[in-house]
Amino acid sequence: MNSEQTPGLYIHIPFCLSKCPYCDFYSSTSLSPLPLFLDALFIEMAMHRNDFNSFDTIYIGGGTPSLLSAQQLESILVRIRENFDLIWNAEITIETNPADLNQSSLESMRGTGINRVNIGIQSFDQEVLRFLGRRHSVQQAILAIEASRKTGFHNIGLDLIYGIPGQTIHSWIDTLEQAVAFAPEHLSCYQLTLETATPLGKRYYAGEFSILGEDLQYEFFMKTSQFLEEAGYTHYEVSNFARETRYTSRHNQKYWDHSPYLGLGPGAHSFQHNRRWWNHRSVDQYIAAVNAANLPVEETETLTMEQLRLEALYLGLRTKKGVNFEDFQNRYQYDLFTEKKKMLGKLQEEGLISIQGGHLYPTPTGLAIADSLSLI
Ligand code: SF4
Repeated sequence: MNSEQTPGLYIHIPFCLSKCPYCDFYSSTSLSPLPLFLDALFIEMAMHRNDFNSFDTIYIGGGTPSLLSAQQLESILVRIRENFDLIWNAEITIETNPADLNQSSLESMRGTGINRVNIGIQSFDQEVLRFLGRRHSVQQAILAIEASRKTGFHNIGLDLIYGIPGQTIHSWIDTLEQAVAFAPEHLSCYQLTLETATPLGKRYYAGEFSILGEDLQYEFFMKTSQFLEEAGYTHYEVSNFARETRYTSRHNQKYWDHSPYLGLGPGAHSFQHNRRWWNHRSVDQYIAAVNAANLPVEETETLTMEQLRLEALYLGLRTKKGVNFEDFQNRYQYDLFTEKKKMLGKLQEEGLISIQGGHLYPTPTGLAIADSLSLI
């Protein structure tokens, strides 16, 4: 097992103080089950102590993990260490809402060993934050970033959303300029997607507003990439940028290269060998299953070599690292270069991929349409 295959641990905190109207993730705004949820989480951890020994990344996501009290957060980290080994320099990330961050909460986070803080800024435009129904303001976002630095976090990630109805490239670039002024180590830029079941999705499908057309989406994507690359960031995955290679998300890399990971909490996904499984999404169902001494697993799938191969290609083409033909053959028993020579040649002519030194890379245009590149 090489270092890239050391497992990662994901902890899902399925609670939010308010529901953002564009969000399709399962989360509860009632915090009353929180103590019972934590008890169940600790039991679930113990259930896996024999099949996962050590981790080199922990990602506490949600939901909104930053709504946990300092004691609750600390108890999670204590229990993780009781049940599993952590590699000495493990990357330990927490997702946060700017409204929850202040000197005191950040110091508590650092005290537990968390060394990477991901802040859901979304925009530096108050109008955009209002449209997205976020519970934080631009001012709180700025204070949160400043407090994170002041507390001593050396690995700060900012999440941003673009493609808001009516947003111009100029106003989006203004948000990017404000973001890079803080020199965050990591930036994630997601395009707004509107799912039918969400309040914002319903308003869209009712014709209340329109979203960016395909040409404009492409332009936003390319301008984002160009702006951040010029600002010194590497565009290393479709939506992700890092100031240096060491600041790429080690945890997310595991999802992209079929490394094993254990997901604990409602709706969390896990992957080991060629098996993937995921937990019940509902907090009540999750707690009930664990309290009945059962793994709270909703479903398990065993992937065939063919499925793994297609997934690896799909995921590889979403990253700057691309796909190494030899590694691919060793791992998935498939000579991609020979078997798909004609198709690869065509994609190369179209400027979507490049092939160099036994490696397949997506070009910037290829990254922009990475979802359809998997069709090869
Ligand atoms: S805070 Fe995050 S998880 Fe919670 S509703 Fe908003 S977008 Fe969804």
